[in-house]
Amino acid sequence: MLLLLRPETPPSAVEEILLAVQKRYDYPAEVITLGERKGLYLPENDPDTHMWERNPWVEKIYAWEKPYPKVRNWQGEIQIGKWTFSKREPLWIAGPCSVEEKKSLLSLAQTLAQAGVQVLRGGIFKGRTSPYTFRGKGWEALEYLLEAKALTGLPLCVELLSEKHAEKYAETVDVIQIGARSMQAFGLLQAAAQTQKPILLKRAPCSKIDEFLLAAEYLLYHGAPSVLLMERGIRTFDNTLRYTLDVGAIAYLRENVPLPILADPSHAAGDHRYVLPLAAAALAAGAHGLMVEVHPQPARALSDAKQQLEIKEFLRLMEYFQMPSFAQG
Ligand code: PEP
Ligand code: MN
Repeated sequence: MLLLLRPETPPSAVEEILLAVQKRYDYPAEVITLGERKGLYLPENDPDTHMWERNPWVEKIYAWEKPYPKVRNWQGEIQIGKWTFSKREPLWIAGPCSVEEKKSLLSLAQTLAQAGVQVLRGGIFKGRTSPYTFRGKGWEALEYLLEAKALTGLPLCVELLSEKHAEKYAETVDVIQIGARSMQAFGLLQAAAQTQKPILLKRAPCSKIDEFLLAAEYLLYHGAPSVLLMERGIRTFDNTLRYTLDVGAIAYLRENVPLPILADPSHAAGDHRYVLPLAAAALAAGAHGLMVEVHPQPARALSDAKQQLEIKEFLRLMEYFQMPSFAQG
């Protein structure tokens, strides 16, 4: 590990830290110079580094053993329609769980665009838990989405379920979504990366943060220009809500990873009544944006009926977050 000190650290504080490191690890630590900064190498295996993290002169601790260099060092810009990552405006992705009727999709897309949503989502091939449930309208649904895009200018975010579809997605879709259940489908990750589109990667419900970041590393390794990391709820011992939104993961990722961190309160909650509080928690923890499921008639939705917001519910939610107290820094 490398302990990197702030450029303004006075020599007396550097000396003090050096002595503290030598004492704690019984280790002949030395101070090294890195540009304008001083640093010290620490042994790799200290599980408890909070004393260094709390030291006001410590800028960052780099753990070399984290095996995702492309994620850690990612530098770049992401432009999706009107949204630009570096401007730090919250990203709103909204739309139905599955694309169903054309007419209602077009009118929903218009309402969402007017409300300030920057990206339209909608499932076309659905990876459902049971093969006997609605599995999407396939390419016909993509045609509806393309009409919605032509009408509103909204870019499209669509889940890629099969490597065989990657080429067609590369020509039509603006953000390629990797669903939670596919997070470690490595062939799919490679095919998605090769489209050269930004990838929205959803965290698998049982994956550790490290595994999530390694899946992102796969995407960057295979040439994806950028990855948007999405926390969508994990499986814990409690199943009162559909999943448990891991708010701590959002805060951790915000602090440690340069990629955008998004949250999906809809799948985490599994119930429209809890989408707003989970969205608020995610933004408070530092999420750069949200994906929310909205349906013109949720009660009739062919998938995820319980969690989808009605249009007026969604508009209220957006208004709530446009209040100055929620403006993102
Ligand atoms: C979705 O967003 O359409 C979806 C199926 O979610 P998840 O992959 O998180 O279950
Ligand atoms: Mn859904």
